[in-house]
Amino acid sequence: MAGRKMLIGGEENQSNVEDEAHYDFDLFVIGAGSGGVRAARFSANFGAKVGICELPFHPISSEVIGGVGGTCVIRGCVPKKILVYGGAFGGELEDAKSFGWELNEKIDFNWKKLLQKKTDEIIRLNNIYKRLLSNAGVKLYEGEGRIVGPNEVQVTQIDGTKLSYSAKHILIATGSRAQRPNIPGQELAITSDEALSLEEFPKRVVILGGGYISVEFASIWRGMGANVDLCFRKELPLRGFDDEMRAAVARNLEGRGVQVHPRTTLTELVKTDRGVMARTDHGEEIEADVVLFATGRSPNTKRLNLEAVGVELDQTGAVKVDEYSRTSVPTIWAIGDVTNRMNLTPVALMEGTCFAKTVFGGQNIKPDYNYIACAVFSIPPLAVVGLSEEQAIEQANGDILVFTSSFNPMKNTISQRQEKTIMKLVVDAETDKVLGASMCGPDAPEIMQGIAIALKCGATKAQFDSTVGIHPSAAEEFVTMREASRRVPGAGKPKTNL
Ligand code: NDP
Repeated sequence: MAGRKMLIGGEENQSNVEDEAHYDFDLFVIGAGSGGVRAARFSANFGAKVGICELPFHPISSEVIGGVGGTCVIRGCVPKKILVYGGAFGGELEDAKSFGWELNEKIDFNWKKLLQKKTDEIIRLNNIYKRLLSNAGVKLYEGEGRIVGPNEVQVTQIDGTKLSYSAKHILIATGSRAQRPNIPGQELAITSDEALSLEEFPKRVVILGGGYISVEFASIWRGMGANVDLCFRKELPLRGFDDEMRAAVARNLEGRGVQVHPRTTLTELVKTDRGVMARTDHGEEIEADVVLFATGRSPNTKRLNLEAVGVELDQTGAVKVDEYSRTSVPTIWAIGDVTNRMNLTPVALMEGTCFAKTVFGGQNIKPDYNYIACAVFSIPPLAVVGLSEEQAIEQANGDILVFTSSFNPMKNTISQRQEKTIMKLVVDAETDKVLGASMCGPDAPEIMQGIAIALKCGATKAQFDSTVGIHPSAAEEFVTMREASRRVPGAGKPKTNL
């Protein structure tokens, strides 16, 4: 595409990719996960010649990390959500009895069957992602990528063959991987990689960590009938989320039979005849079939040779980038978890799109991190957008109005399940602008996506109030919270009582 002019958004833009005939590619992407595939396809659609490399993956074994589709598709969001659906049937079957279903025969859960279905789906999606790349004209190399110069990538194939390619631009999109706490016997624990492919259903599980993955797997395995002990260091799980929502998640986990151990960590794992013994810092010993570490993820930068070519990393090992995802080396860019900005698949997609538009589309577009909704797929789930109450108080100049609703969902009135749905809106008292919304309850992620659009448009509480609800639904509660539960001053301001 040397010297070619492109018409984008009605304007003629001079392509950034000019006079690069001596390069093998306009762009070479290392890592074909969500962000890498998006950036490669969009760049190719803008006319760039694109190569991408990714390791081949084995659908069952988690020994080889890789696979076109990346963490989200192969060993993250997608297989996890399939297991969440599987786990949710446990509670649904209990509730069904109150709705007239006679479940007289013994009900069994077949883990192997679900895992096979999950694996079939992952293989299907992996093939779709490969097809997306080839349909866009992107050349895929199955091997491990390494940067050997500002315009040079080396790909080592599984048989050890090394291939070298030059590219005008290089994009690092290698994601992140699970990290393990360094305690004696840590090798006896698994991470979410293996948890998604366990051959046998674990009847007794100990989980360490209070983040997304620990809470989601506690819900999955408990829903399928396992005994689950969940240990985390803080008073409540899900640090960073709204405190009331964190308490609701903890309550719901306990209500569904998860044994919750707050302010607890594991100090040692020991192999036993029947499994693994996990010791806690309170001196407890809990024997389990499986111990899961869900203690965060770290950026995949170790084997890329980045320091040698001058790409700067931060103290967590993440690639440092500017607002446009450019690294300290002008020809090298990075997106997704490897940059440790906001580690979510849709964010990597946004960063990949902005990269392609900026570098090959002639438009300078920065990722916009405002009002990104996210969800924790616990059972029931938690979803949020914008500021939590604590963040709003910390960041606000003036007073904050907090509207809350805690109610028994209609379905629970019949099933007698003791589980409240909790909702919250945080509003700027002066401007009436809704700063944040949270919900813990059935369908929260599906509801929150729509609320996110409203907040992104700058919706006020008055506009929420003037919206007519859908009845009977839980979602209508978001437009009928009339009275504020409390008024709190922003940090440093005197408290104003309602
Ligand atoms: P998180 O960062 O969400 O949570 C890590 C947890 O591990 C925290 O509770 C932390 O405790 C605890 N922890 C860290 N180190 C130790 C240690 N040495 N000993 C004991 N506890 C420790 O990580 P996850 O692994 O759950 O998930 C990784 C990332 O994957 C998430 O941050 C998210 O970006 C992404 N993800 C997103 C999902 C979604 O969108 N639904 C689902 C799954 C993953 P403390 O709070 O005390 O520091």
